[in-house]
Amino acid sequence: MSRRVLMMAALTAAVSLAIGAISALRCEAEAAPKRVLVVSYTAGFRHSAIPLGEKILLKLSQEDRDFNVTFCRTAEDVKRLMSPEALRRFDAVVFNNTTGNLGIPDLQAFLNWIREGKGFVGIHAATDTYHPEQIGGDRSYIDMVGGQFKTHGAQATVDIIVEDREHPSTRHLGPVWKVKDEIYEFRENNRDKLHVLMALDRHPDDGHPEAGQPGDYLIAWCRNYGKGRVFYTALGHRDDVWESAEFQKHLVGGIRWAVGLEGGPARK
Ligand SMILES: [Zn+2]
Repeated sequence: MSRRVLMMAALTAAVSLAIGAISALRCEAEAAPKRVLVVSYTAGFRHSAIPLGEKILLKLSQEDRDFNVTFCRTAEDVKRLMSPEALRRFDAVVFNNTTGNLGIPDLQAFLNWIREGKGFVGIHAATDTYHPEQIGGDRSYIDMVGGQFKTHGAQATVDIIVEDREHPSTRHLGPVWKVKDEIYEFRENNRDKLHVLMALDRHPDDGHPEAGQPGDYLIAWCRNYGKGRVFYTALGHRDDVWESAEFQKHLVGGIRWAVGLEGGPARK
């Protein structure tokens, strides 16, 4: 073989190796799971379902494989994992029954991080978190999540009307989903600002004087927040709700939508 042929062969081998390495890298980048921070710290009431919720979110991430979870459980974890620098490592947060003022090092930077294109998933008490009166009248967190917890009555079995049956979080459900849980009421009805996924058309039978009266009680919604995506479900108090396949699919769909793996932006 002449020297020239040998050189050509070596060059061809080097180029194909490089192409192989680049496509392997690209493949890895495409398949990299989304990084989701699950926040379970509570500064107020602590739901007994929190550890079960963590266990189920871990299981769901292992089954799904397109996202993984990191847990943020203590005030110290919040300081360490939710600083503006630390948040850059994540694609979304899940507020797993958080309550009160969590002590996020810079709340406005956290909200801006979502606006810049990240995902927020709130479960049940996520609307019982950062009440304006807990943080000097600042409504910015409540405005982001889309509702502020007011009250709840006794646990009740409700017929939830699934208003959007195409969203990744609700498309596995029929037109009506019967669930027993603690049903939240919010201070305001923000239907005009949110894309409502599920709601009740009457007050839950929870012992309140309005029980059974017609009304509009939101259960789950999503919304655009700048370039970010916000998903919230008011369910998630009872262990058996967490354990149900319907709720788990609801959550996985909400997470996959919030990190941009599925579905377009919200209609609002
Ligand atoms: Zn609750």
